[in-house]
This record gives sequence, C-alpha cells and structure tokens, in this order.
Amino acid sequence: MTVSVVKFDGTSESIGRAIELCGGFEKLNRNDRVLIKPNITFSGWMPIPPYGMVTTSKVVEGILLKLREHGCNKISIGEGSITGVMGSNTRRGYKYSGIDRIARRYDARLIDLNEGPFERKELGGIKVGIAKPVLETDFLINVPVLKTHLQVKASLGLKNLKGCLDTASRKAFHMKGLEHLICLLNQALKCDLTIIDGIYMLEKGPDAMVGVPHRKNMIIASRDVFACDCVGAAILGFEPSQIGYLKEYAEINNRPVDISAFQIAGERIEPLKEKLEWELEPEKELVELAGITGLSFPHPGPHICSGCYANMVYSVGIFSKVNPNLNFGDTHIYCGKKEAHNGPGQRIILYGNCAIKSNGKEKSAPSIAGCPPQTMPTLLFLMKTLLSRPKMLKMLALGSPKLIALRAGIYSGNLPKWERCRLPDFDRNHFRPSLWQEASRALFRGRK
Ligand code: SF4
Repeated sequence: MTVSVVKFDGTSESIGRAIELCGGFEKLNRNDRVLIKPNITFSGWMPIPPYGMVTTSKVVEGILLKLREHGCNKISIGEGSITGVMGSNTRRGYKYSGIDRIARRYDARLIDLNEGPFERKELGGIKVGIAKPVLETDFLINVPVLKTHLQVKASLGLKNLKGCLDTASRKAFHMKGLEHLICLLNQALKCDLTIIDGIYMLEKGPDAMVGVPHRKNMIIASRDVFACDCVGAAILGFEPSQIGYLKEYAEINNRPVDISAFQIAGERIEPLKEKLEWELEPEKELVELAGITGLSFPHPGPHICSGCYANMVYSVGIFSKVNPNLNFGDTHIYCGKKEAHNGPGQRIILYGNCAIKSNGKEKSAPSIAGCPPQTMPTLLFLMKTLLSRPKMLKMLALGSPKLIALRAGIYSGNLPKWERCRLPDFDRNHFRPSLWQEASRALFRGRK
C-alpha cells in the first residue's frame, strides 16, 4: 500500500495531491456516507495555542474540497473531545479549531461523538462503547495530528480512533492496557483513509499547554493506517518498532514494522526525520518558568487518563501563573496509579481517585478525590495545601478576578512559553481566521 508524503504549500492543493498520490479515493463511491474524524483533543476556557494539538481546519477544508469534487454530498465530521476539564467539550473544540465554519461552508454535518449513541463491543475481555455514527459510516477518513504522546510516545492514526469511544471506555483503555486496546480497537474499526496533518507537529505532546509546537509543513496519507502511522512515527524521530502499539499491531496482523516495506510517493523521508522529545516535563515547561521551585510531578506511568493528567497540569499552570516565585521545598504531586515514594523531607500530594486508591499507605498525605477532580476544586485544594493563610488570602483577592475573567473569556491567561507561537511560523489562519480575514478572503475570491 502506498504512503504519500507531500509538502504543504499553503493551499488546499497539497492535501488533494496527498490524497491522489496514495489513491485515497479509489474505493470511494460518490453516494457513500463519509465521516471525517479529526483530532480535537481539548478546548476549554484556557486559550491554549492549537498548533500541533488539534487538526487544522485548513486540512479539513482540503479534504472537503476533494470530496465535493468527487461528487460526495453525505459528509459528516465526528469527534469526541475531552470533557469536564476546564469546560472542554467537542462543540467548543469545533469552534476553537475553526472546523465549525468550514463545515458550514461545505455543508458537512458536525457530530459530537460523546453524545452517542454507542454500540457495545467486546475488546480483549472488556466491554466498550463505540460511537454508532463511526461504525455505520461507509467511508471513514481519520485525520490525526503529527504529535508525540506522554504515554505511547507517538499519537497518530491508530490512537486517534480512541476519540470514538464513550468516556467510561476511554478510562478503561488507560487502566487496562492502552497500547493493547488501541490495537484491538483498530481491528474492530477500519479506516478507509488516514491523512496525518503535519502542518504543525508537537513535541512533549499531546497538548500544547506543556508541549512545544513546531512548523513542519507535511501531509502524510495512506489507505493503510498502520503504514501511515509508521511513516509519521519515523518523521517524529522514532523507529516504528519503538512504539508499543505499532509493534503489537504488526504482530497481530503479520506485517513488517519497517518503513522500507512501504511504497512511498512524494518526498523522501530521510531528510524529513526529526528527533522530538516525548516525555513531558511540566516542572520545566510551566512551574520553573513561573519562578517556582520545589514542586514536581513524577511521571504518572501507563495508568493515567489524558483528562486527569491534563486537568492536573492545567490547574498547576494557572496556580503557578497566579503565584509566581515561590518555593515549595520538596513537594511531589502524584496522579494515576503510580505508587508514591516518600523520601526523607519529601511531601506528597495525591491527585484523583486512582492516586488515592493506589497509595493507601500514604493516608496522611493531602489528597483531592475525583475521577478526574474538577478544575475549580483543584485550584482551591492547591491554594489550601500549598499556601500559607496570608498567601492564600492574597491569591483569592488577586487571583479570583483573573479566574473569573478567564472563564468569561475576557482575560487570556497567556503563559510566557506561548510567546513563541507569535513567530511567523505559526499562522492562526490554519485554524480559525478572524472574521475580518474571512471577509477579505471572500472579497478577494469574489474579484478573481
Ligand atoms: S482518577 Fe483519573 S486516572 Fe483514575 S480513572 Fe479517574 S480520571 Fe482516570
């Protein structure tokens, strides 16, 4: 099966070329019901830069244009974003990524997969709920982003399908063997075409709160999701065999896990290979930048849900911004099922039900329950646990108006590390152009 690797030239043409080079629409009938599954991990009330975190509306537009040219008119876009973390939900995600406007323009239906209905399926002995619109579509186009991931190293096409599960099943995936279950999910759910959006790529992903986005300008496409992922992983800087779920998928399906086995059309891969870091360092990326010392987050290990970790990190990010330049001695915040190690002089904090359950022996440690704990209670808990009474009162007085304004969308809460996203490499037009930019584009088109 062919994998096309095409440079993004700023226009929708490059997306069309990537589709053509891999024969992407060869099996597509114009009367087919088509479902596009982007990756819109998260969109809450914190204006995190979207680069490398969510699928660009530019790539979705290129796909929609091609589908229309092909004669397709039963097109849906379906995603299920993280919910309950800082107000994140799928509808907000469609707006944040600009996909809502593109969908309107091309008359594509937007579906929030979190709303169901779900069909129960058994995967490896556990019952999971898979969104029916995805199971029932005739042609599934998977559009992940080129990004790294704190648990599985690379998050590409095979992993993007986890967004088609109900919330309980996603949590079960994280608790019962994420990589194995990703493989099984992809036995139950087949993509007809995968297009990796590599206009931007994300180091230390999967979200841009902690992660570091880079411009890459690549589109990788194939009718074979496994081959597409192997090429994507190689471009991120991994041997595909280093990615656990790619190795296992190859074994289950008797496939070589080696990019030399695939036919590549377009660019040569070798000069495109990067060496991106995948392990998150929230201390360096958020806390130390705020001048805070003595606060760390041991790697949560394999058993942690994305929403849980994201909420902890986001809350600590906001807390650090409002309380810069403090020293917390030697404090470690644990989440997920990781066992805490309490060295001399160390202070331990347990975040979420799993951390509390896994560390019964640390009964005296301050903890916040929840699955996951919500953002506002987390912030209050951090204040109460980490700050002296006068500092807490000061934070309440100074920080509360900022938090209220953040929730209301009238305060940006920008972090210093996001300054790099102002560089010319990063272009908002690939997501949600301002209404003014949209209007001038329409005017320009009208004059042509
Ligand atoms: S406590 Fe957190 S890690 Fe554990 S199941 Fe709930 S959300 Fe997932």
